[in-house]
Amino acid sequence: MNDNDIMSMTPAELREYMVSAGEAPYRAGQVFSWIHRGAFPEEMTNLPGSLREKLASGGYRMPRILTRQDSKDGETSKYLLSLIDGECVEAVLMRHDYGTSLCISSQVGCRMGCAFCASTRAGRVRDLLPSEMIGQVAAVSRDAGERVDKIVIMGIGEPLDNYDNVTRFLRLLNEKDGLGIGLRNVSLSTCGLVPEIKKLAREGLPVTLPVSLHAFSDEKRRELMPVARKYSIDSLMEACRYYFEQTGRRVSFEYTLISGKNDSPEDARGLAALLKEKMRYPSHVNLILLNEVKETGLRRPDRARAARFAKMLNGMGQNATVRRSLGGDIDGACGQLRRAREADRAAEENFTKE
Ligand code: SAH
Repeated sequence: MNDNDIMSMTPAELREYMVSAGEAPYRAGQVFSWIHRGAFPEEMTNLPGSLREKLASGGYRMPRILTRQDSKDGETSKYLLSLIDGECVEAVLMRHDYGTSLCISSQVGCRMGCAFCASTRAGRVRDLLPSEMIGQVAAVSRDAGERVDKIVIMGIGEPLDNYDNVTRFLRLLNEKDGLGIGLRNVSLSTCGLVPEIKKLAREGLPVTLPVSLHAFSDEKRRELMPVARKYSIDSLMEACRYYFEQTGRRVSFEYTLISGKNDSPEDARGLAALLKEKMRYPSHVNLILLNEVKETGLRRPDRARAARFAKMLNGMGQNATVRRSLGGDIDGACGQLRRAREADRAAEENFTKE
């Protein structure tokens, strides 16, 4: 954390920081609530001009919205946000009947290397700071003029590969003078970093944990996810049971259906058997239709096949649903927007070099 990264500070840290900068302690509470709402310094009308100037000139780094795309049905808005160093990340706002959720990024790029994913193709550039995750929520919520009810950490990056910043972000998110989002309304999706899952289980942060499984055997999983070479499915299942035992939060599994790779009836049977034997607690499987990323050559099965897969799982007593795909008409998923922008930038650079 940078010394003056005020949006990453807890209320107590911010108070100390403000006092050491010669401000009255009560100012810290005012500043905290303004910045977590994504206000611009000139709008902070209860603060003296000198303090507003200080905020404007350093330390307060709201991500800037570069583009916003709205799906035709009005349910989804996808944002490309620029960070202080010009890197960018994506966030997607989804309006459901039961409330509004925001899917945010946890890293610039990703080093997990999953075969089907766009975000990992160019590796990881850097971790996001807590302020840059809070900033995504504050900036989007402000732009949309909507309160965000639920947070899903399922955008670019592997959140448990940025453990300290992500757990600090979760605590900040929960602050009553800030965004005040209950951690039960937060889902943290992981590709399955076993030691970090166990560590998270002991943090006292009751977030829901979707685990990306995508295959029922180690052999198949290793083909799709390099992380499976490091942690076996057995050890992952043990960590998931531990998570449930410690937090009481139900674990769910993400399973992206990829044509000819993991979408056969044997795969469904293998998955149901695995969860019955190894997970043992009730769990839910979210089936996702692959969002095709051209360079990977991987294809999505059709909806009917996905529905059959879900039916088989349910028939074997394993709860499963096919996730409705939101935002399909706006590159709605998985790092595709950032990739497109990176490509544009590269093209621009080449152009100017010539
Ligand atoms: N790194 C975390 C969170 C980000 S990915 C994780 O792995 O869970 C969020 C989800 O989207 C994961 O389940 C991931 O496997 C899935 N995903 C990534 N690329 C995808 C694609 N092209 N199509 C469908 N799902 C994808």
